[in-house]
Formats: sequence, C-alpha cells, structure tokens
Amino acid sequence: MSRIDDNPEPAPPDATPAQIASAAGPVPPAPVERRRTRRDPSAPRPERRLIGIPVSAGIAIGPVFGAAEAPAVVVRHKIQAADTQAETNRFETAVAQSRKQLMKLKARLGNLPEDSQAEIAPLLDAYLHMIGPSRLIRGVRKRISDMLVSAETAVQDETDAITSVIMAMPAEGDPAGRRRRAEEVREVGRRLVRNLTHTPFRSFTGLPAGAVLACELLRPADAALLDPTKLAGCVTDEGGSDGHTAIMLRALGVPAVLGVAGLGQAVRPGDMVVVDGVAGSVVVNPTVETLAAARKSLTAFTRVQTKLASLRRLPAETTDNEAIDLQANLEIPVELPLIAKSGAMGIGLLRSEFLFMNRETLPNEDEQTEAYRSTIEAMGGHTVTIRVLDWGGEKDIEALQSEGIVPEVTDDNPALGLRGIRLLLRETDLFETQLAAILRASIAGPTRVLLPMVTNLAEVRQARDIYERVARRLRRKGERLPEKLPPLGIMIETPGAALSADALALEADFFAIGTNDLTMYTLAVDRGETDVAALYDPLHPAVLRLVQFATEAALRMRMPVSVCGEMAGNPRMIPLLMGLGLRSFSMNAAAVPRVKQAVRAVAIDDCVRLARKVMEQSDPARIHELVLGTPHS
Ligand code: PEP
Ligand code: MG
Repeated sequence: MSRIDDNPEPAPPDATPAQIASAAGPVPPAPVERRRTRRDPSAPRPERRLIGIPVSAGIAIGPVFGAAEAPAVVVRHKIQAADTQAETNRFETAVAQSRKQLMKLKARLGNLPEDSQAEIAPLLDAYLHMIGPSRLIRGVRKRISDMLVSAETAVQDETDAITSVIMAMPAEGDPAGRRRRAEEVREVGRRLVRNLTHTPFRSFTGLPAGAVLACELLRPADAALLDPTKLAGCVTDEGGSDGHTAIMLRALGVPAVLGVAGLGQAVRPGDMVVVDGVAGSVVVNPTVETLAAARKSLTAFTRVQTKLASLRRLPAETTDNEAIDLQANLEIPVELPLIAKSGAMGIGLLRSEFLFMNRETLPNEDEQTEAYRSTIEAMGGHTVTIRVLDWGGEKDIEALQSEGIVPEVTDDNPALGLRGIRLLLRETDLFETQLAAILRASIAGPTRVLLPMVTNLAEVRQARDIYERVARRLRRKGERLPEKLPPLGIMIETPGAALSADALALEADFFAIGTNDLTMYTLAVDRGETDVAALYDPLHPAVLRLVQFATEAALRMRMPVSVCGEMAGNPRMIPLLMGLGLRSFSMNAAAVPRVKQAVRAVAIDDCVRLARKVMEQSDPARIHELVLGTPHS
C-alpha cells in the first residue's frame, strides 16, 4: 500500500491539491489509524511504569513539563543560484541526522512491552518512510533548486503544501486519520527544521517550580540552563550514565533517569510522574497507592540526606586514621553553595566549559579572570583546580562555531577528533587568553591548572612552554602573579596517557585520573550512548589496570594524583581506589557526604586486601561481586 510520501514522481511545488492527492495514493496503513481511533484522549489513563538508567539519586513527584516543543524559528529567505549545492548539502545533512535520530529511537523499542511496541513502531516507521526517498524530500530538494529558497524555507513550504492537500482530501476519508497524517508530515518537517537550525529539541523557558522535565534528549548545554531550585526531576529518552548531561544533573542534585525507552510516547505535558533516580523507574499517572509509596520513599531519602549532612564537619578519615582528601567537581557556578554545604575541601575539577556555553561570542580575558577569581575566593583558601577548555566529543559550544574556530558540523567521530588540549594547541590565542585569566585570578588563592585529553609528552611540553610564556608576558606588563606559578597537571583519561604515565609524570606536576573518558576509550563505548550503556564499565579489569598503572607511576614520583571521574563519587568504589593507593578524590558535590561516610567506615588494610583480590581477577562479573556485592548485569 502506498503512502502520501510514496509518490514515485515528485509533484511540482505548485501542484494543485488534487494533483498531489492523486499522486499520493490512498490513506496510510491501518496500525497507526487503529491506535488513534482506539484511544479517547479525555479518558483517565492507567498507571504506566517505564525503566531507564538511574543517573542522579532522589525521588521526584510532579507534573511533566517539556513534552511540548517550542517551534524552531525560521527566517524565510532566498538564496543565490550559486549557493544551491551548498544549501542542498545542508538539507542532506539534516535528513541524515533526522534518520539517525529516528533509527535510534526505533532500535530502542525492543525494551518496551509488546503492546507499546505495536503502538509506537508504525509511527516511527511512518516518520522514517517520509525521511526516505519521499514526496516530501524530493519536493524540498526541488524547491531549493527551482525556487532558490533556503532549506528551512523549502521544508516549511513543502510540509505546508502536503498537509493542506491531505486536509483537502475528499470528505469520505476519516477526518481524524487525515489530521493524524498531516501531523505526521508536520512532525517530520519540524525535526528537519530543528536539525537545520540547530535548535534544541526542547525549550525550558517557563519551567514551573516543582515540575519534572521530560524530553527526548538533553544536551549538556541545555542542562546548564536548568534551575535546580525549580526542577523536581528530569527524565529523557536518550542518554547514558556518565555522559555530561548525567554529570550535570548529578551535580545539580536533580533526581534523574535517562535513556527511558518509550518516554516520549508515554507522557503528555501535565501528566503526574514519579521519578526514582535510584531504581531508574518512571511511573506515569501513578495510582493513589503508588503516590503514597513514593512519598514515603521521598521522606526516607530526605532523612538519609539530613543524616549525611551532619557529617559535613567530621574529617574524612579511615578507621585507622588515614586522611583522605575529598573535593568537589564544579560544572556551573550555581553549584558553589552546594559545594560549600557538602564539606568538600576544595574543587578538584572545575570544568571551565560553562563559561563558553550558551553564547555566541567567546568570553574575553577579563570576563574569565572574574569568573575564576570569584570561585577561588569563594573556596576560602581551599585549592581550586581549573581545567582549561575541554571542547569536543559531546560538548557543543556554539561560540567556537560562530567565531569560526571549529566547523559547524563536527567530525563523524568527534571523540577521536580535535578534542581538549589538541584544539588549544592549535588555537593558541584561545589557550593563551584562558591561561592568562587563570594566572591573574590565581593571586586570589591556591590554584592548579589542568590539561584535558593529553595523549603524549609533546602536548605537555608545548602547553608548559605556552603557560610560562603567558606568565612572563603578564609579569612584564606588571601583573601581580603568585611567586611560584600554579602547578600544571594533566588528566589521565586516555589509555595512551595511562600507559605513558611513567614518562608523563616527569613532565606534569600532578595527575587527575578521568575515569569517564578512560572507560569510554578503553572499552570503545560511548559514555553518553544508551544503546551501549550496559558495556560501559569502569570496573572492567582493563580500566582498573590502567588506573593502577597511572597511580603507581605518580606515587613513585611522589606526585599528587587524584581521581575526578564519576567513579570517585561512588562510595562503593572508593575502598578499591584507596586500596590501589589513591588518597584524593573529586566528585559531584552531592556525593561528598556519601563518600565520606564510606571512607570513615573502612581501614586502609582492608582496602589493600580488597584491591589485591580485585586485581587478580580478569572476570568483570567477579569484580562487580567483590566491589559492589552484586554481579554485573
Ligand atoms: C573524565 O573524563 O573522567 C573527566 C573527569 O572529564 P569529563 O567528564 O569532563 O570528560
Ligand atoms: Mg574527560
């Protein structure tokens, strides 16, 4: 059976409704139709339990916000004949991106109960069909080349043309079916326009207090815009446990479950939901009983939090009096009060990306100096480790694109591309500006500078040359800097760096082990990707061996070494890391009390015994049992 978008011959853009209708063939297949006619939208909907990846502890109970998308703004414009090819290429990129998004959603349907799959699959198929060699796609291409309009304009005009044809179809057609088909075309058009205009898929303006944000995908830059005091919880279709969005949500203390298959289809704005950030469940339209149980869990969770808060002033010391250094990671300045409350003894990783996100222009030296200075001052004498810009991978920064520093469309494989220190060594103005700002701010208190994504010695040497050159220039200009420059350390977050740690220890002043990227690169598993989330395992023996190798290299040189990846915030993994010789950890602020509690409950000897046992194992399942007490799922 053919569909509206099956037309083998593209209808001319100015075809009459009748022409398009006759080319379009009969109405689409029945499954979607049945789905729509079966359901009465005003009827109370039954409770529905969905499962995802728990990424941030806590219970949220509240109405859903965000299921509706703000429209992407399209400025209609004409193009020059010479630009037709470039415009068509832009369109093809958006088509490929849209197809990828839809395929991903489809691949994850297998996690849903069968009846839900039967409901959703035909809809996604319909979208995918339209994104293929369809009337819509051909029509847009033709409009770009014949009418010389921008790709966005062409998509809008073509979807309008097709939907008006559908709505004008003979009255014997089912009106609900026609509306549904028109909506499907519009939905595909919206997706294309969003991808063309790089418009985020959701808007958070107007998020009411106490709401649960539900959306398909939350980018790290989006998460940085959230106000944790307003947001009760967050749930998304996409995402993995240690992606930057997950890190942000943990940092903000927002209960969150990501990678929830079928979420987009299961919730509507205003639906009541219960989010359990520990169990990884999302209950839509909870019954009275479910709500009562959730309220109980919430009270219990709050009680534990209050108890943990009472640890704030107690030292992080093992039962045999070994002092452990617990610091916090900072992603965005709103976390500072949370860090102060957590009892963290410094900032072990300030991810400076926040300064560059959600803006069109790059922050200048003075602006950056002020941001670093205020953080250093707020930490009142505790060390602040500022990591220089780690652009790349999933961290999108518009300002770098709009200023032409990085291309608008990134590499196919951005995690292996121009990331972190690689970009900074190419864009030395960007690097020097940031180093100058950090150096100027460092007069305000103890500071360290951290280089991301290092893989070889030359990068550290080049970075140090630039660092010292910037310091000399500032001194020549009469800038007051600390007598001894802040230590310059490196992230150990690639297998290459971990295995060269003995050599790198001769060049760097300290190591910060980034277990997130280290796990990703060692196991070849994208840390933010739902489909391979089960393979992402920091307890894999290969990752642990790299952590051990790097730690021992640092300890032999009596060089400071810490862990600042998400592993450091897991109280159950801390004894193992201590057993490997680590004494310094930096984590999301909310984890500091929980980790302190774990530290205060163990003796170093026990940790060493545990680490020995673990490091003898090559079976990840056995390691999970030893460390977490549960087999690896
Ligand atoms: C890491 O990779 O472990 C790390 C701390 O850096 P980020 O999470 O910012 O990539
Ligand atoms: Mg990293």
